[in-house]
Amino acid sequence: MKIIQTGIRESFWKWIAVTAFSTWLSAGVAFAQRSIPSDPGEPPSGRTKLKLVPRPGGAISRQSVDEKAMRALIHQLVACGTRLSISSWTDPKRGVGCGRDQVAARLNEIAKDSGGRLQVVVDKFEASSKRTGGNPAPMENVYAILPGSDPKLAKTVFVVSGHMDSRPSDDMDPKLDAPGADDDASGTAVSVECARLLSKLVESGRANFRSTILFAAVSGEEQGLLGSTHLVEWLKQQGYAVGGMLDDDIVGADRAPGGPHRVRVFSGNGPMDDCDSSSRELARAIEEIDGREAIRMIFRVDRFGRGGDHYPFYKAGIPAVRFTEPLEEYSQQHQTPRAENGVEYGDLEKYLDFRFMGNVARDNAEVLRQLAMAPAAPAQATLEGAVTPNAKVSWSAEEDSERAGFEILWRETTEARWEVFEFVIAGTESVLNGVSTDNHFFAVRAVGKNGARSIAVPTEMDTNRRGTYSR
Ligand SMILES: [Zn+2]
Repeated sequence: MKIIQTGIRESFWKWIAVTAFSTWLSAGVAFAQRSIPSDPGEPPSGRTKLKLVPRPGGAISRQSVDEKAMRALIHQLVACGTRLSISSWTDPKRGVGCGRDQVAARLNEIAKDSGGRLQVVVDKFEASSKRTGGNPAPMENVYAILPGSDPKLAKTVFVVSGHMDSRPSDDMDPKLDAPGADDDASGTAVSVECARLLSKLVESGRANFRSTILFAAVSGEEQGLLGSTHLVEWLKQQGYAVGGMLDDDIVGADRAPGGPHRVRVFSGNGPMDDCDSSSRELARAIEEIDGREAIRMIFRVDRFGRGGDHYPFYKAGIPAVRFTEPLEEYSQQHQTPRAENGVEYGDLEKYLDFRFMGNVARDNAEVLRQLAMAPAAPAQATLEGAVTPNAKVSWSAEEDSERAGFEILWRETTEARWEVFEFVIAGTESVLNGVSTDNHFFAVRAVGKNGARSIAVPTEMDTNRRGTYSR
C-alpha cells in the first residue's frame, strides 16, 4: 500500500505492531514526505534508508488511570461551595482554602506512597489585578515535585497544571456558589492523577526521569492568571528551566454525540516569521507521543475571548500548551448555579465524563513520562546555505552519554507535521546535499538511547546572512 502523508508516529506504531522486539527501527517507514512528482526531487537522488531508535516501551496504560480517585477529588473540591481566589483561605469548610486543603491532602497521600520521592509544597504569595479590586490579595499554589535523576537535567522541569480556583457569574462575589467541576476541578484532578501515575512508576523502578516534573494546582486563574504568572517567576527563582508546560483547563466533559472525542491542544504561533514557536513544537511532540486519534492540535494560542494559565509561560518564550475539551457548553462555565427560562446554568459534577477525563490524564502523563526521560533539546538550531544548492543545519548541545544522536526533521512549508530527514549520531551539524533552504522548514531534536525524544527545535536562518543577498 502506498503511504501518503503518514506521520512519523503513525508509521512507528504500524511498525511496532509487526516488529515488537527489535531494537532498531528498520528502514523505510519514515519516508513519507509528500511530494508531487512534478516537483524537483530533493535531494535529487532520493534519500538513504534510515534507522531510527524506537520510542520507549512501557507506555502508561489507560487502565492504570484511577478514575475513582479523580472523581473523589473533584467531589471534594465542589463541596467547598466556592473556590473563588478572593474567598476565605482559612475556612476549612467553604472557600478556596478548603480547595487547597483537599488538593494538598490528596498529594500528601500520593507522596506517602511514593517512598518519599514526591515533595509537596504550598507556595503562598500576594497578587493584585482588577479582579482583586486592585489590592494585593493572598494567593496560594500547591505543587508536587518529582526530582529528576540526572544531575544536569534535574534543573529542567516539565510542568502540568490545573487551576483549583473557580468563579460564579460575578467574579468578585465569594458568597455565590461556584462549583467549578469542569473549570477547573477537572484539570486539577488531571494534574494530581499525573503525580500519582508518574511517582508510582519511579517508586516501582519502572521509569527513570532524568528531568524534574512538577504537578501544579494554581489559584488566581479567574482573577487574571495570577497563580501561573507567579509560577513562572517562582520556577525561575528556584533555578529551573522549563522544558514544557501542559495547562489542563476545562478537560472534564465531552457531551457531543459520538464520544469520546479528541482533546484539543492549543498552541500559539510565536512572534517569528518562518519559524514556529517552541509551544508549537511542544504541541507536535504531544501529538506524536499520544497519537492523532487522541490529540486535536489547534494552531492558535487559545480560544477567542479566553485566556489560560499556559499564556504567561508562552509569553515568556517557554513551550506551553493548553488542553481543553472538544466542544464547550457555555451555560456551564463561569455561571452561578441557577435555572432561568428553563435553562440550567452552572458548572456541575453531573456533566462530567470520566471516560474522557481519564483519557486526558493518561495522555498528559505519557507526554510527561517521555519528555522527562529525554535528553536536553538542542540549545539552538541554525539554518545556513541560502542561495546555495545545499541546506546546512547546525545546533549546539552539551555532552550527554545517554544520547543516541539527533534527528534532523523537515516538512513542506504547508504541512503541519515533521518527518525525519536524517539521523545524526555524532556532531552538531549536517549538510543536506541537494536540499534547498527554501522549500521546507527544518528542525532538530535529541534522541535518547532509551528512545525518548526532546521537543524539536526549529531552525532559524542565520540572521547575518538573511536578506543580505541581492535578488
Ligand atoms: Zn479555567
